[in-house]
Amino acid sequence: MKIWLDGELRDAEGARVSVLDHGLTVGDGVFETLRTVDGRAFALTRHLDRLTASARGLGLPDPDHDEIRRACAAVLEAGPVPLGRLRITYTGGLSPLGSDRGEAAPTLVVALGEAPRRPDTTTVVTVPWTRNERGALAGLKSTSYGENVVALARARAKGASEALFGNTVGQLCEGTGSNVFVALDGVLHTPPLSSGCLAGITRALAVEWTGAKETDLPLDVLERADEIFLTSTLRDVQAVTRVDGRQLGDTPGPLTAEAMRVFAERAAADFDPR
Ligand code: PLP
Repeated sequence: MKIWLDGELRDAEGARVSVLDHGLTVGDGVFETLRTVDGRAFALTRHLDRLTASARGLGLPDPDHDEIRRACAAVLEAGPVPLGRLRITYTGGLSPLGSDRGEAAPTLVVALGEAPRRPDTTTVVTVPWTRNERGALAGLKSTSYGENVVALARARAKGASEALFGNTVGQLCEGTGSNVFVALDGVLHTPPLSSGCLAGITRALAVEWTGAKETDLPLDVLERADEIFLTSTLRDVQAVTRVDGRQLGDTPGPLTAEAMRVFAERAAADFDPR
């Protein structure tokens, strides 16, 4: 596996960042995960735009899109995989110990691995604390993902494979690595960005392609939704079969099955959707 680090393609063993990198010491960084098929990255422009938005949220300098495109092309050429997961990490760079960011240039890492195989269905539990929709990191894809790591570990301990957050005003928000959609009386809904969720790229495409409505949803909608599904880069559309122990009816339900079909068809036809 080859990794792009600070302007050069290196072997995985030789790709090292400093122990004083601000991304490592205090989580001062942002990232993107893209999927790749046969050496092509899906929706790269959208991911680069979101990386820039996250970087601005943290006060990092704007990442250089041309350099990142070159880096992606280089790692894809160096280690082709049929179905890949491309990870872009961009941090505050070398910094003195302490909480201030140094003057150094940011660190850029681009790495490619095999995409994990995700099943078509999943089970979820709700998180017993809230996501702060007005917090500094709300909606940013920051490397400070500790809260998501803990929530996912607790979900796994309960036998579920994803955890869903509510926000401080009792609304449904998102998963630890996914956005959430619910079907109510034949209509698809997903929480708006003001709920504190990440502006998921799969979410945006699913809204565009299925006509789902962006609606403030109370967390207890999960107790009565007819169908629930998750979206993310590595899942596409994934049907939820059980939420907090409540078994949903036939899964995937009709709206979920249609979303899966539309997504598979449209995403294959347009690999660079804007
Ligand atoms: N929400 C969170 C917290 C995520 O980390 C992710 C992706 O990893 C998503 C939502 C889904 O976003 P996308 O569809 O762009 O992968």
